[in-house]
Amino acid sequence: MRRIVADGHTLCNHGMRHEDMSAWPPERIAADLREAGDAIRAAAPYARIRYFRAPYGAWGQTPAVAASLGMQPLGWRLAVADWETPGTDELVRRLLDGITPGAVVLLHDGGRDRSQTVDAVDRVVPALRAQRWRFTVTYQWALATDRYVPPCGGTVPVLSA
Ligand SMILES: [Zn+2]
Repeated sequence: MRRIVADGHTLCNHGMRHEDMSAWPPERIAADLREAGDAIRAAAPYARIRYFRAPYGAWGQTPAVAASLGMQPLGWRLAVADWETPGTDELVRRLLDGITPGAVVLLHDGGRDRSQTVDAVDRVVPALRAQRWRFTVTYQWALATDRYVPPCGGTVPVLSA
């Protein structure tokens, strides 16, 4: 966690146990988000936690609760189903075919072997940079454009893991 912060990445509260919160009442959601926030702050006391993303994109009442705790709900525009581990070449194809200006791309780097995702990102980022694409921390992008990335996870298949 400290290394993530030290490397300049933006943190996002994703709940404490990656549970589907879509049917939870606000009080239960708030307790879970506070617990996750406390765990993050225990590891990285000075980190700002600007965003919340509902596990599985199952938002329910989480956006309002997250906002009440000072976090903006953050969805995504492009999911390439890297959890299917379709091969690095296929992930590269999906990323290059699907990327749009301003897109937040959903990718995974923990929980199991994510080498295909890491390898795909290692290929796609230089390729897009060569085409003059820029990459930015979402917070900076939101400030620069005054745009809000609404929850949109409902358009993405629910994960089973
Ligand atoms: Zn997740």
